[in-house]
Amino acid sequence: MKKKILTGDRPTGKLHLGHYIGSLQNRVKLQSVYDQYILVADLQALTDHFDHPAQVTQNIIEVTKDYLSVGIDPNQTTIVVQSQIPEIAALTIYYLNLVTLGQLHRNPTVKYEIQQKGYDEAIPAGFFCYPVSQAADITLFQAELVPVGDDQLPMIEQTNAIVRRFNRLYHTNVLKECQAVLSKTSRLVGIDGQSKSSKSLGNAIAISDPPEVIKQKVFQMYTDPNHIKASDPGRVEGNVVFAYLDAFHNDQEVVADLKAHYRRGGLGDVVLKNILNDSLQLLLAPIREKRNNLDAKVIKEILHQGTEKAAHLAKETMKMVRDAIGIQSF
Ligand code: ATP
Ligand code: MG
Repeated sequence: MKKKILTGDRPTGKLHLGHYIGSLQNRVKLQSVYDQYILVADLQALTDHFDHPAQVTQNIIEVTKDYLSVGIDPNQTTIVVQSQIPEIAALTIYYLNLVTLGQLHRNPTVKYEIQQKGYDEAIPAGFFCYPVSQAADITLFQAELVPVGDDQLPMIEQTNAIVRRFNRLYHTNVLKECQAVLSKTSRLVGIDGQSKSSKSLGNAIAISDPPEVIKQKVFQMYTDPNHIKASDPGRVEGNVVFAYLDAFHNDQEVVADLKAHYRRGGLGDVVLKNILNDSLQLLLAPIREKRNNLDAKVIKEILHQGTEKAAHLAKETMKMVRDAIGIQSF
């Protein structure tokens, strides 16, 4: 039996280069070796987009197009729509009893997101508890590996804490602990240089952005504010253009030379940004072409079939969980 993988994305917008480098590339590599499930997490998207349900639904199609365009193969990977698997909600309810408000308060990613979204005291309870629903996602699909960006590490920890508590409490071993799979670039910075690139912060280059938008975003990138003239020595650390060159340029020796040149002075931001733009255009052109040829009807069929397959596994796990707790049917 192949080990299972569960990963997912919130359909809050089109996927971006952070997804590509942080998780999608790993998923493409791992899909032939493991039994991989990808969850399009529309329920989780609603925790902070409950006022835009139509957008979330439309983004399910867009995100799935992104998957296929980068090489996710629906014959190897099961793509699942979260809201169509009611067991996730049921399992979340059980798990909520095994987690304290203190634990939820201490989750550094949620803490940061609450601050970013300006919720203050008016934090939607569903949003606050989303790490618990993520634990339900992972364990319902009996996943042992979870390819994610590093903002998700606290969620993996929370999941494993629930798994240990559940197994101890109910004297069972039906739930498995899971392990994060991180890529070399597990947190791609946004073009503003402020935080990780995110769909909801508008600081990301989407995988599907047209060539002129990519160029425009590259030219908006934060560099070194003290590098005013090309002849000035510049800083590489904290410079977004170099972060992207590290992640996406196909010749890292060239990048090392560029860094040395930039540090000693004589390399202007415009030249540098043109180099980055060229490598991003090269990377994204074939992906865009593949994406443009995808048909929405085919996408819907893939989602339907993936969700149907996942529903069987969900029922199987749920039966084990209910049996372990001792919940009976009458
Ligand atoms: P939102 O702003 O709506 O939260 P997002 O851009 O953060 O969207 P998610 O759907 O929340 O994307 O995350 C999906 C997966 O992609 C997670 O595993 C997450 O860690 C990873 N990921 C997201 N952004 C980045 C990034 N900038 N670098 C590396 N991995 C990322
Ligand atoms: Mg996110």
